[in-house]
Amino acid sequence: MKNKNKLIRCPICEAVNRDTEKVNICRRCNIQIYKHSKFRTEKSWAYLITAIIFYIPANLYPMLIVKQFGTEDGSTILGGVVLLWEHESYPIAIVILFASVFVPIFKFLLILYLLISSKYSLGNSSKIEKYKLYYITEIIGPWSMIDVFVVAILAGLIHLSSISMLAGTASTAFALSVFFTIMSANSFDIRLIKG
Ligand SMILES: [Zn+2]
Repeated sequence: MKNKNKLIRCPICEAVNRDTEKVNICRRCNIQIYKHSKFRTEKSWAYLITAIIFYIPANLYPMLIVKQFGTEDGSTILGGVVLLWEHESYPIAIVILFASVFVPIFKFLLILYLLISSKYSLGNSSKIEKYKLYYITEIIGPWSMIDVFVVAILAGLIHLSSISMLAGTASTAFALSVFFTIMSANSFDIRLIKG
């Protein structure tokens, strides 16, 4: 049996590490070293474009369907924010606006920036700064789902009164958009980050 010691280079500090075939942590700077994926940026681009496409119906179709006195009324994400604001539900309005508008758009731009900067050297931000940006997308990823939870909680709460609420078509599109954004960030090979 051959026991070849494979070596792997840390993308941050350039230290040579032993490839353990499992999770590789740099012995010098303690950062996780990811291996090259076969497809490089193509997968990440494809997932990102899919996420952006799903984000369109997520905003155009109703997120919430309100049933009141036998009539059905749908409200889009932004329509819902306006409605909640008018009903003085400021915290929920802010959470929805933040989780379903600011966070997803911020993530799209962040991944787009990382993808473009892996091809062309853009701006003055250093390699370590770009690494940090990548980790931000990984950390905030699941938090975008807050919006879906808020809709579920609202639907549950308001069901008790005379009005009933249902999650609309947009909630499925939104969940898919969040899912593909996470897939895009995960398939991005951080070794492509240029200094
Ligand atoms: Zn290192």
